[in-house]
Amino acid sequence: MGKTYDLVIVGTGTAAMTAAMRVRAAGWSVAVIDFRPFGGTCALRGCDPKKVLVSGAEVMDYASRMRTRGVAGKLDVDWPELIAFKRSFTDPVPAKHERVYADKGIDTLHGHARFTGPNTMKVEDEMIQGRHFLIAAGAEPVKLGIPGEEHLATNENFLELERLPRRIVLVGGGYIAAEFSHVAARAGAQVTILQRGERMLAHFDPDLVGWLMEKFRHVGIDVRIRIEADLVVHAAGRAPALGALDLDAANVAVTNGRLELNEYLQSVSNPAVYAAGDAAQMGPPLTPVSSHDAKVVTVPPIAAVGLGEAEARKRGLKFRAKSQKASDWFTARQAAEPTYGFKTLIEEKTDRVLGAHLLGPHADEVINVFALAIRQGLTAEALRTTMFAYPTGASDIGYML
Ligand SMILES: Cc1cc2nc3c(=O)[nH]c(=O)nc-3n(C[C@H](O)[C@H](O)[C@H](O)COP(=O)(O)OP(=O)(O)OC[C@H]3O[C@@H](n4cnc5c(N)ncnc54)[C@H](O)[C@@H]3O)c2cc1C
Repeated sequence: MGKTYDLVIVGTGTAAMTAAMRVRAAGWSVAVIDFRPFGGTCALRGCDPKKVLVSGAEVMDYASRMRTRGVAGKLDVDWPELIAFKRSFTDPVPAKHERVYADKGIDTLHGHARFTGPNTMKVEDEMIQGRHFLIAAGAEPVKLGIPGEEHLATNENFLELERLPRRIVLVGGGYIAAEFSHVAARAGAQVTILQRGERMLAHFDPDLVGWLMEKFRHVGIDVRIRIEADLVVHAAGRAPALGALDLDAANVAVTNGRLELNEYLQSVSNPAVYAAGDAAQMGPPLTPVSSHDAKVVTVPPIAAVGLGEAEARKRGLKFRAKSQKASDWFTARQAAEPTYGFKTLIEEKTDRVLGAHLLGPHADEVINVFALAIRQGLTAEALRTTMFAYPTGASDIGYML
């Protein structure tokens, strides 16, 4: 009947690795399974490779902002070289992860996993049994149900492009479209975003997104509804990757493409099965969901942590909101980046920080200070009276409160 494990994990991404290591350290036998090279979306097809490509976009943007301010000459992105640089990060990942699992005595299985019963699974032709299962299968692009859908490139394809097409269309108005559009535009492509929603980046504060859209227009990213192009990329959302798992065979309940889970992320219908990461999809599909923050590496970045204004009102909280487009602050002027602004929400009674929304230079780093403050229940006064090194992005925090 095949080998029996205390825990069988489908996936080898961030969620799988965390669970596998903890459970193995507690003495359980563990197997991890993936049909792709080991390492998951973040390290191989998401956060990390994207952030490496963004480095090139940032240099282009900074140089163009500093033109007539002491920097002259023309710069170009060498796309194949940038992709090679990206590979220097992604190529070593699978072998490194396999080694880490092997060193800990965790079995590694390659192939598609699917349930054959409540406690049994098939990986290609190999049968295995588990006392427990963890579905850490991540997410995949949602089916759009439009003609020609099969021609869409995925995030994976985009991050592997050997040559950058001249005209690129991104379908969808979320963070992946926002980030890829900035990378491609700075590398010289003509970029259009097709989106049906009222505005882009619906999970971010509308005021800050409005300010950011001025930057989109400034760098020539067009947002519209019909266009002709050389490459069309699916950036219209991702949903839990559950289709291939044959969840019926294990009596694992699913509603509208999502697993039915209790507060322990345990299947409500089969107590042997748990889920984690994007496959569990309870929070936003971004890696550090534990702190409920989100960052989008457009150039400049936009970032948020804690509650949004609308959500805070809905909860009936009494708070003061401070918001400003701060193009004339030193941080903005020094970076020659007028797209700089913030919104902070402070609870009236307790003076605690409820939420912070940042746009502009250093937003993706400074948001971590707010994440710490919210997590530790710090007051606005405590933050205001902290002496941050000057001049840095964090030295603006006091003025944001
Ligand atoms: C383009 C892009 C950019 C992103 N940028 C950021 C960012 O900047 N910051 C951030 O916090 N998050 C970012 N994310 C999100 C982040 O990558 C995910 O939240 C995170 O990787 C999810 O981890 P996971 O462990 O749940 O799943 P994954 O890392 O997706 O791992 C799931 C694994 O399961 C495997 N699998 C699925 N089904 C089966 C099966 N039936 N059998 C065997 N194996 C299977 C898959 O091959 C995959 O390797 C980004 C995502 C994308 C797509």
